[in-house]
Amino acid sequence: MKLHELNNLTDNFPSTEKFPAIFVGHGSPMNAIEENDFTRNLKLIGKNLPKPKAILVISAHWQTIGTFIASTKNPQTIHDFGGFPEELYRIKYPAVGSPQFANFVKETITKTETKLDTSMGLDHGAWTMLIHLFPNADVPVFELSLDCAISPQEHFELAQELTHLRRKGVLILGSGNIVHNLRLLRWGNENATPFDWALEFDEKVKSNLLDGSFYELIAYEKLGTAAMYSVPTNEHYLPMLYTLATKEKDEELKFLYEGFQYASTSMRCFRIG
Ligand code: ZN
Repeated sequence: MKLHELNNLTDNFPSTEKFPAIFVGHGSPMNAIEENDFTRNLKLIGKNLPKPKAILVISAHWQTIGTFIASTKNPQTIHDFGGFPEELYRIKYPAVGSPQFANFVKETITKTETKLDTSMGLDHGAWTMLIHLFPNADVPVFELSLDCAISPQEHFELAQELTHLRRKGVLILGSGNIVHNLRLLRWGNENATPFDWALEFDEKVKSNLLDGSFYELIAYEKLGTAAMYSVPTNEHYLPMLYTLATKEKDEELKFLYEGFQYASTSMRCFRIG
């Protein structure tokens, strides 16, 4: 892209007040329709957010080889799960996409080559949360994929480049779970007592977040057995790093929710800025 083209692109996205960045634990898709402590809290989180120009979601449920940005005009609601009640499959989250911001993100990320995806919809990591956070679906939403082929450090560095978007009116929304072990999930008992290793890892992450110990969070595998059980695969953990990477020095990190569902899923949520 030539310099004058880049300037034109920047002109289309005037600077705004710095927007917050959020991380939410999404857990089971049932949270879309359940009224529980967690979803009641999500609604409150949404009410306390300024209305952004667009929402960029980094979800555990869009994994790719390479980094993709969804530039879909009208993203479909994707019901990417099986065995849940019919009611859940009927839900649609009708927000439009933002091809303009998708292009802008493409120009913003220089750490790696990115590609636009013109057909990606909203996976359940996105819409089951947005339905509570922005129930009117009146803000454009688009997703950034997780490249399976890069390291947590590389994810973090790429995500740091997204900080810029917060001054362009974009809300960064990471959606995953700090502790996520599906194999050990206590199905049918949402309020089951969390496993010791789940509590231990969640607490370690909490204190590292508060201390600003980013390196420890990136190198989470060094946190021992509790980390091994809590992050058996890292697609639910990485969205947390994306939100965290946009934190600037002077900014506060505030926990918005802490708790567990089904004994092995941390629902911890936080806000930066
Ligand atoms: Zn998930």
